This record gives sequence, structure tokens and C-alpha cells, in this order.
Amino acid sequence: MSGLKYKRALIKLSGEALAGDKKFGIDPETVSNICREIAEVLEMGLQVSLVIGGGNIFRGLSSSAKGMDRSSADYMGMLATVLNAVAVQDALEKLGHATRVLSAITMQEVCEPYVRRRAERHLEKGRVVICAAGTGNPYFTTDTAAALRGMELKCDVIIKATKVDGVYDKDPMQHDDAVMYRNLSYIDVLQKKLRVMDSTAISLCMENNVPIIVCNMYKGGIKRAVMGEDVGTIVQGG
Ligand code: UDP
Repeated sequence: MSGLKYKRALIKLSGEALAGDKKFGIDPETVSNICREIAEVLEMGLQVSLVIGGGNIFRGLSSSAKGMDRSSADYMGMLATVLNAVAVQDALEKLGHATRVLSAITMQEVCEPYVRRRAERHLEKGRVVICAAGTGNPYFTTDTAAALRGMELKCDVIIKATKVDGVYDKDPMQHDDAVMYRNLSYIDVLQKKLRVMDSTAISLCMENNVPIIVCNMYKGGIKRAVMGEDVGTIVQGG
């Protein structure tokens, strides 16, 4: 397990990451590119649990703003994350890695139910645990699911892999002069309302002292993060 700073990581991918340039749906080529980055750290011996969003297919909050019942819309959002999880499972298995999708909403023909002890066992055996259906509850997000699963599966770090290099003072896609933070405390993120993860997720990580690293999902960002290199933005401490 040479060169790894962490033994077990929770990697959060947003649903949009899977859509590629199309911004909607699942682009198989994009999914396989992301999975190649994840495969690199698996081959180094890192135990990986993944939480994938669903925003590329359905977002509960925006649909409820258009008149849908919030809980119904959120359940649809959670089902969207299962589609993404199965797409990632397929891509990782094509690269030769054993995976299990564990869903917070039971769907036994498609995937296993999420059972913490089972998830831990899979991780110990070197299988990638893909946590689907968020927390299983409406009014939450997959960021919160990532923090929650990260805590219960005793991950040493939460990696939020994004299309940009880290956390900026303003949107780097729209502002050329955006400045990236290298280090932030949890309180900084909450007070400055920085868009790292939502406040429930940040609070959970803060209470349990689990660092969050925001890095680029390409260019070897995930690998550098788990090796403890100075990459992206790290959120930790008081
Ligand atoms: N969702 C939910 N409970 C959860 C996780 C997700 O209700 O525990 C729903 C919510 O409607 C959300 C959607 O699933 O909008 C997709 O997740 P999210 O927006 O977090 O995905 P991302 O932005 O990461 O793609």
C-alpha cells in the first residue's frame, strides 16, 4: 500500500460529472474516463466507497419549485442516483474492479440493500462500494449522504471530485480572477457559505473531524489527494 496517506476514502461525484459536455444524462465515455482515475487509486490499494449524485437526471428541489410535491420529487432524485451508480459499476467492472452497489432504497433485483456491516466487509475485500439512493430520505442531498456514509464506513477522508481544481472565492467558470483556497476550516466554509458541500454535510464532517478534500477529478487529482500531496482545497480543523 505504498505512498497512500489514507487507507479508506469516500469519493463523492456529482451527477453532472457523468453527463460530460451534454450536461444531462449519462455519457459512457465520460463515465469511463472518471473510472480510470478511480482505478488508479484502487490499484494502489486504497479502499474506496463512492457516493454519486443524481443532478444530471433529476433534482428534487428544482422540480418542487415548479409545483411537484417535494418528497415525491426527492424520491425521484434518489432513484436517479441509482441509475448513475449502475453506470459507474459497469464502467469500473470493465476496468477489472469488483464493485457492489448498495442502495438506501431496497431494489433487490438491481443491487444490494445498504447494510453497513456488509459495506465494510466489501471494502475489506477490496470491492468498491457504490452507495446509491442517497440517505434514503427526502429533504437531504447526496453531499449529506457522502458525509454520512463516510462516517459510518470509517473513511479517513472525504474527497469531493469536481471539474475544477478546488474551492474558489467565486465561480471560476465565470470569473477569470477567481482565487482558489488551499486550506479552509469547516467554520470558514459555513460562515462564508462556500459551495463545498451543503451545511449538513460540513457539520457532520466537522463534528467527527474528517477532512474534506476538493480536487479535480481529472489530471490525477484524486491520486494526488490520497497520497497526501498538496492538491486542491483541504477543509479541516477549527
Ligand atoms: N436526494 C434526496 N435525499 C438524499 C439524496 C438525494 O432526496 O439523501 C434527492 C434530491 O432530490 C436531490 C437528488 O436526489 O436533488 C439528486 O441528488 P443531488 O442533487 O445531491 O445530486 P448532485 O448535485 O450531487 O448531482
